Amino acid sequence: MRYKVIVIGAGMVGTSIAWHLQKNNSQVLLLDKKSPGLETSYGNAGLIQREAIHVHPFPRKLIELIKMLPNKKTDIRYRWPAVLRYQHALRQYWRFSAPFSVQKIEKEWQTLIEHCTSEHQKMITAADVEDLIRRDGWIEMHRTEDKFKTAVAVAKKAREQGVEHKVLSLAELKELEPNGNFAGFVGAIHWLNSWQVSNPGALVNAYAKSYQDMQGTIAKCSVKTILPDDNGWQVVTDDEIFYSDHLVVAAGPWSSQLIKPLGYNLPLFPMRGYHQHFETTEKNSINHSLIDMDKGFVMGPMQQGIRITTGAEVSVMDAEKDFGQLQAVLDIAKNILPLKDTVESDPWCGSRPCMPDMKPVIGASGKHNNLWFAFGHGHQGFTLGPITGRIIEELIHNKTLTVNVEPFNAQRFSKS
Ligand SMILES: Cc1cc2nc3c(=O)[nH]c(=O)nc-3n(C[C@H](O)[C@H](O)[C@H](O)COP(=O)(O)OP(=O)(O)OC[C@H]3O[C@@H](n4cnc5c(N)ncnc54)[C@H](O)[C@@H]3O)c2cc1C
Repeated sequence: MRYKVIVIGAGMVGTSIAWHLQKNNSQVLLLDKKSPGLETSYGNAGLIQREAIHVHPFPRKLIELIKMLPNKKTDIRYRWPAVLRYQHALRQYWRFSAPFSVQKIEKEWQTLIEHCTSEHQKMITAADVEDLIRRDGWIEMHRTEDKFKTAVAVAKKAREQGVEHKVLSLAELKELEPNGNFAGFVGAIHWLNSWQVSNPGALVNAYAKSYQDMQGTIAKCSVKTILPDDNGWQVVTDDEIFYSDHLVVAAGPWSSQLIKPLGYNLPLFPMRGYHQHFETTEKNSINHSLIDMDKGFVMGPMQQGIRITTGAEVSVMDAEKDFGQLQAVLDIAKNILPLKDTVESDPWCGSRPCMPDMKPVIGASGKHNNLWFAFGHGHQGFTLGPITGRIIEELIHNKTLTVNVEPFNAQRFSKS
């Protein structure tokens, strides 16, 4: 059977693409080696981040680099095999993190972020999953006066872009989160129009069900090869070959390995994160996700329990789990909330799909007709899935675009 479009990858990005295409009368096949939403889109912090108008640059100040060297920081760690394997991408990342470059990148990035909540809302309504969404924001907590002052100034400026916040004293923070021990903190920022999802994997799964309700097809199989043929594309999986006119690669951190045999050498690199759930009790329940900005971790109220999510670890995709960073974070988190019984014995890990210029790849592949890319959303792929889905649908159906896709084109790295 020949499909109009095959989408590879049923994470937040691929599922949103399939949903938009099917809604607009394409006959779509969504392929994944697992059920929808079970990889990176499962284990994240579950924030739909309307406030995320700034990207995450590589540290550029000498003092910051020196602090990273002992590899004991809680927010970022690295493993030498990954530093060596991704050295080219990391060098590019460092270059793109120069202040003048970041300014331009952020302007482009913001054209996506501004649509995040409105685009999620359409899918939330269609999937009928209001119960998974909390619309009372999340809280950014600070431990030093200097950084807090800077963060408040940045937050005030963000109002110009429709990002709403409230500065919280420690007393106000305690009022919102009576179970927290905020000794060591100086204040917080409450981001008001960002959302918290109580089970990120369940949201992707609900979007996938909504897609199936529109007669979209899902097949669980591992894609081995993709090949152009006279009429479009052949997708060779472990047990079947599927055919389509258009092919979309939205396989998150695995995307680059799928397209490499076709001659695409994009500098996608993984940034791993870990999470562990703790049983929620009367004494540790929280009403908002709390981020410790100085230590770089998130505490989120999830259906499964309190989810403690780490910052970034530069490691290769198949590296053994290393719980050093998670353990360091848990020691700190346990001073803020009483966390006792773990929900699962083995903590989760997954990898953010990152590009050196901190922008996703969204658009035509460049070298092959009817081959489309949608990956590399880094720290905000859960937030940006739905707007990415809308853009890819508009591109394939040759419609007027909601967002200018030029800054996200796949060819931009052939020049650098
Ligand atoms: C610790 C952590 C916290 C985060 N917190 C947030 C947050 O709060 N908010 C936010 O917006 N983002 C967050 N992110 C980032 C976000 O999770 C990712 O950017 C996003 O999930 C990427 O979605 P995706 O659909 O591109 O990839 P994935 O969710 O990884 O989906 C890719 C899919 O492709 C499939 N696939 C791969 N190869 C093949 C193949 N050969 N054959 C078949 N299927 C294949 C995989 O099985 C997978 O299901 C966080 C990430 C981490 C790690």
